[in-house]
Amino acid sequence: MDGRVQLPALEWIKTNYPVDFVDVITETGMDGVLAKQEDISEVLRSIKVSVTLNKSTRLFVVGHYDCRGNPVDENRHLEEIIISVKRLKPLWPAQEVIGLWVNDQWQIEPVDLKLRNQIWAKTIMQP
Ligand SMILES: [Zn+2]
Repeated sequence: MDGRVQLPALEWIKTNYPVDFVDVITETGMDGVLAKQEDISEVLRSIKVSVTLNKSTRLFVVGHYDCRGNPVDENRHLEEIIISVKRLKPLWPAQEVIGLWVNDQWQIEPVDLKLRNQIWAKTIMQP
């Protein structure tokens, strides 16, 4: 994860969820890696340690604006975050898997909520 993203993401998670600590698993362009890379065994191994040894109950997939490791547009990022969430969820059914988007203001937007709002906005605009 890009250094610019870590603090806002960690602060958002600590504000919104009752957590004592957050294990950070970094990979350049993580959303792209999880969505597009076939072999993600290294990432899975890190998640496994976090879940089994550190008892993590939630997994967050964080994508962000201006990602040099995965230079795609915002909509593609959102898609890849969702693909990542769907790829991880069956492997950890007991964990909550949540997609987060860090926007150009370095604010955190839960991807589910963001997409729901976009659909709402479209619905409202269409008479
Ligand atoms: Zn990045």
